[in-house]
This record gives sequence, C-alpha cells and structure tokens, in this order.
Amino acid sequence: MEVITYQCPNCAAPLEFNSETQKWDCKFCLSSFEESDLQKMQTQETAEPEESEQDDQEQTGQKCYFCPNCGAEIVTDESTVASFCTFCGNPVVLPKKMDGLFRPQQVVPFQLNKEQAKQALYQLCRKKPLLPRDFTDKAHIEKVTGIYVPFWLNDCYVNANLQATGERVSSWKKGDTQYTKTDVYALFRTGSFIYRDIPSDASKKMDDDMMDALEPFSFEELKEFQMPYLSGYFAQRYDVSKEECRERVKKRIEQSTKEKLRETCLHYTAVQVSSSSADIIKADSKYVMLPVWLLYTKYHSKDYLFAMNGQTGKMVGELPMSIPKAFLIGGIIAVATTILGTIGGLLLC
Ligand SMILES: [Zn+2]
Ligand SMILES: [Zn+2]
Repeated sequence: MEVITYQCPNCAAPLEFNSETQKWDCKFCLSSFEESDLQKMQTQETAEPEESEQDDQEQTGQKCYFCPNCGAEIVTDESTVASFCTFCGNPVVLPKKMDGLFRPQQVVPFQLNKEQAKQALYQLCRKKPLLPRDFTDKAHIEKVTGIYVPFWLNDCYVNANLQATGERVSSWKKGDTQYTKTDVYALFRTGSFIYRDIPSDASKKMDDDMMDALEPFSFEELKEFQMPYLSGYFAQRYDVSKEECRERVKKRIEQSTKEKLRETCLHYTAVQVSSSSADIIKADSKYVMLPVWLLYTKYHSKDYLFAMNGQTGKMVGELPMSIPKAFLIGGIIAVATTILGTIGGLLLC
C-alpha cells in the first residue's frame, strides 16, 4: 500500500501546508514551496511502478501502511486518507484510498492555523458570563486537530408548492352597531427554484448538526484538488453516499421553499399553511474537502467538543455553564425585578 510523505527536495524532511502563506513549508531547513513545485514531485512519485503483491493485500482487507520516515506501522481506519505517524509524527497521505470515485474534485484549503483555532475558543469563552472562571485555563484544551471533512456540494432544481388559507378582516360601524367581516381565501402557490452548492457532510464520524452549523463556507475559494493539500492534516474520505446525503438536503430545501412561498402570501391578516411540498427534479453533487479544526476540551472529567470553520473562523460547540454563576445572575435579575416592582408599587400609591 502506497504512502506518501511530501518531502523537502533540499533536506528530505516532511513538508506541511502553511495556511497563512498557502505554501508548503519545511520546518527543518525553513524552505518553502509553491503548489507547482509539489505537482512536479507528485508526477515523479506516481511514475513509480506498484507492486501487485501489495494490491492483493489491499483486496483481502488487510491494511498495512508503513511510515516512509521511520518505518513504523501506521494504523488507520477505512475512511482515513491523511494522518500522522503515531511514532515519529511524520505527516502521511494515503493516495490509493482516494482513487477513482474517492478522489475529491475540489478543496477549500485551510486559511487558519492551530494557534488561531485556540485563540478563537478563548475569545468565545470571554464573551460568556455563565462560564466557570477556570474553564478558559489553557490546560483544558486537550487536543486541536485540523481535519479535511468530505462534503457533497449539491445543486438542485426544485419544483415546490404550498397551500394555505388567508384571512382578511375588515370592520366598520353603522349607527350603534359594529360590524366585523372575515373573508377567507384558499391560497395556492407554486414555484421553481434553483439551489447551488448546498453543503452536506459526507462523513459518519462528523456530527451533522455541528457541520451544518459551521456554514457558510465561501466556495469562491474552491481549488482544484491536489493531494499535497492534505499534508499536515487529518483527512477522511466519504462514507455517506451522495444519495443518502440528499435526504438531508431535501429536508432543508423543503423548509426553505416553504418559507419562500409563504413570504409571497402578502396582505392577509392571518395565513395558515395547510400543506407544502418540494420535489427535486434534477440534482448534481460535487465531492469536495472542507477545512475544520476540532478542539477537544476536558473540564471536570467531562468532554466538550468544539469545531471551527478552518476558512472563516466561525466557532461552534456548547460551553459548560457554571451553576453558582447561573444562580447569581438569576438572583440579580430576580432582585432587580422585585425592586422595580416595589418602585412601581410606590408610584401607584
Ligand atoms: Zn528542508
Ligand atoms: Zn514515522
């Protein structure tokens, strides 16, 4: 089984992607390389003949990878396509696992680094009054991992419709009598919609809601996929098919078209939606890798997971809540209300 470590042409130390410069750095001799330099190196590597014996091993389900740097065995699961040698920390890419259908079409390269991910978490903590004071202590961040998550970007052509009842109330006075009239209308709305680049994560390991919450990504920065982008990060290949993902996408589309059609029911006193539906009549999906930082945090032996959009810095996750602080703030609000109530009472006297 083939394992690639992108090596520095000068000193053979491993190269890692630098999200700040968008180049590949050698930490050993401090040289830096462009994408075009790496592509040249890549062609040389793929030109090497592959041994058929190793392919047999792959077919029988046995997976042995050896670190090109130290020779230690690299243990990965089925869906991991880029990792690190647990023994020497060397970054490795497993190109065979990205063959054919598993080769991503495009990638959004990391824009933010590990340090920025940590800072973003501290920043998030600073804004939360209910957070236990010692949570922000740096010691609590256990692990920060940069990972390329597989996503499908879905383009969908949709026909949708909505049925509702609308009410218009009018009222007038004649003599001493007040008249009120309610007109009830049956409303039908239908429309065609085109959705572009709806992301849905294609990894079972990733929490769907968490990945959805990382949106939006800016897809103007999508680059043609090149293997070296993965060097220095973890990466997963998809294990949820585009068809499976489309079920989730459909739910989002149903919600969105319902809202859009509902917005066209104007000039009614009240609108009650009775039914709505959306049919995807045509869909295309693109397979891409998107950058995510995962921050594992332990606090009073409980795990807290945060994720940060590796392109925009948007942070998601749930912070612990300090119970005494919650009582204190709740108490302040209660006291304030009582005081206001008392003042109100005094004024009335
Ligand atoms: Zn070097
Ligand atoms: Zn190693």
